[in-house]
Amino acid sequence: MQTKTPTCHHRFPDNHRCGSPALRGEAFCYYHHPDRRPVANPYARRARRGFPLTPPTDQPSLQNAVAEIIVRLAANQLDVHRARLILHSLQIASRNLSQSPPTSRWAHQSPSTPAPSPVPASPPPP
Ligand SMILES: [Zn+2]
Repeated sequence: MQTKTPTCHHRFPDNHRCGSPALRGEAFCYYHHPDRRPVANPYARRARRGFPLTPPTDQPSLQNAVAEIIVRLAANQLDVHRARLILHSLQIASRNLSQSPPTSRWAHQSPSTPAPSPVPASPPPP
């Protein structure tokens, strides 16, 4: 015997019932359950959403990341606490980038930096 899934008891202003499946053992669906609290501020909901951020591997990507944070803060789309954490992380990344060896600058070697010896493509003839 198949039991019928209980439906939500909520009634809309025009007196029709919601009809969505009720939560297990409850009289209302997820949306109409009295324990469900609506988001107080729609900006807060938007600010909690994640967004893609390019990994800051060089100076231009760092600048892009900082610009992204500024734009989202200005549009009230980013939680201030999260923005502070991200900006602090970007500061650490910037410091690490400035202290890391200039591996991307092999083409512009200074006289104090020895050039890496080229690896021969084939062994020398005997
Ligand atoms: Zn409902």
